[in-house]
Amino acid sequence: MSVILSNGAFAMAFDVLIIGAGIVGAACAVELATAGLRVAVIECDTPGSGATAAGMGHLVVMDDSEAQIALTRYSQILWHALVQDEPERYEYARTGTIWLAADEEEMQAVSQKQALYTAHAIASEVLDRVQLYALEPHLRPGLTGGLLVPDDGVVYPPRCAMVLLERAQQRGATLLYGNVVQLLPDGVQLESGERVKGEAIVIANGARARDLVPEMPIRPKKGHLVITDRYPGLLHHQLVELGYIKNAHAASGDSVSFNVQPRGTGQILIGSSRQFVDTSEIDYSILGKMLRLATSYLPDLAQCSCIRIWTGFRAATPDGLPLIGPHPHRAGVWLATGHEGLGITTSLATARLLAAQMLAQPPEIPAEPYLPARIFQEATHHE
Ligand SMILES: Cc1cc2nc3c(=O)[nH]c(=O)nc-3n(C[C@H](O)[C@H](O)[C@H](O)COP(=O)(O)OP(=O)(O)OC[C@H]3O[C@@H](n4cnc5c(N)ncnc54)[C@H](O)[C@@H]3O)c2cc1C
Repeated sequence: MSVILSNGAFAMAFDVLIIGAGIVGAACAVELATAGLRVAVIECDTPGSGATAAGMGHLVVMDDSEAQIALTRYSQILWHALVQDEPERYEYARTGTIWLAADEEEMQAVSQKQALYTAHAIASEVLDRVQLYALEPHLRPGLTGGLLVPDDGVVYPPRCAMVLLERAQQRGATLLYGNVVQLLPDGVQLESGERVKGEAIVIANGARARDLVPEMPIRPKKGHLVITDRYPGLLHHQLVELGYIKNAHAASGDSVSFNVQPRGTGQILIGSSRQFVDTSEIDYSILGKMLRLATSYLPDLAQCSCIRIWTGFRAATPDGLPLIGPHPHRAGVWLATGHEGLGITTSLATARLLAAQMLAQPPEIPAEPYLPARIFQEATHHE
């Protein structure tokens, strides 16, 4: 294996060391092992137990910027191909998303959103009031309509990470357990004192990326989620308020949005909150705001029992786009992090784009918007 001997020499070397076995690291491992590289994934905890276990698993095309549409759309196509034969393995369901319009002004935003989706060949359907309540009868009365995006779906993220990791291992990748504490010119140093040798290093440890690359401008953005007991039939689609986009991308300050998801079990997953804080404790003040907002849209939720509450950290970049590609100033170091609230959706596209760059092959979509160099230049500029 790759671990070093007691005399300090490396016992075995890899072509690529991927740090972090969340969904992003696991997806990268599949692509790189499939290309024939000798890959090791190094994980300090249970694979998939970081943000991947905390996330909602909504596979969603988001339209905050052209680059975001391109990446989420590309990744959604990859997800559809991945899950089509065995959807249950990924706990995949094509729930669709309904973006809810509370008034006429938000209905105008629905029209704009549909025009944008149509321009990008993404299917969507404007719902009037009657159509909306036919699809989701438990919504509060008085909403104006919405936009149905039928090809969005949901998965169970930690399960997907495990399936991807198994696939990578079947293709020759090695999973190593250890806490990486330092990058070396020819590998990494583990907390145990062992060293693992690798030609290239992929930083895929999510919101903890700065532990290893401190100059990286990533901030952990905390989120709360709540899951209910089983209430089959209460909800059929992922429902999101149209105000979500402006709340989700607020550069500072706390925010909550209405975002609920039907699970295959009949449970309802309730989100979401955003805070730039680094303590994982439940903040009952913001949780209360989040649940009050949720019950204002879906009043029957107030009668439901919640069985678990948890928090997780999104890896937020200054421009809301992930970092996929080479570190501009450290040879052999590659980044696959900064996915904020979309890393489940964009994991597969990230892995494809990263592998294309590492293998010097043409990417299937332009890689430039996600190159780390843009952010490091910006960070330097602001110093
Ligand atoms: C509340 C919430 C809701 C979300 N909802 C959605 C959603 O609906 N849809 C969506 O697309 N995305 C969503 N996300 C975002 C998504 O969960 C993340 O973007 C994604 O999981 C990031 O995956 P990752 O593999 O980069 O990071 P992680 O899952 O955090 O994996 C990193 C791994 O690295 C390991 N690690 C860290 N440091 C080291 C080290 N030094 N040495 C070894 N191992 C290390 C960790 O143990 C961890 O397993 C949500 C996130 C949150 C918090």
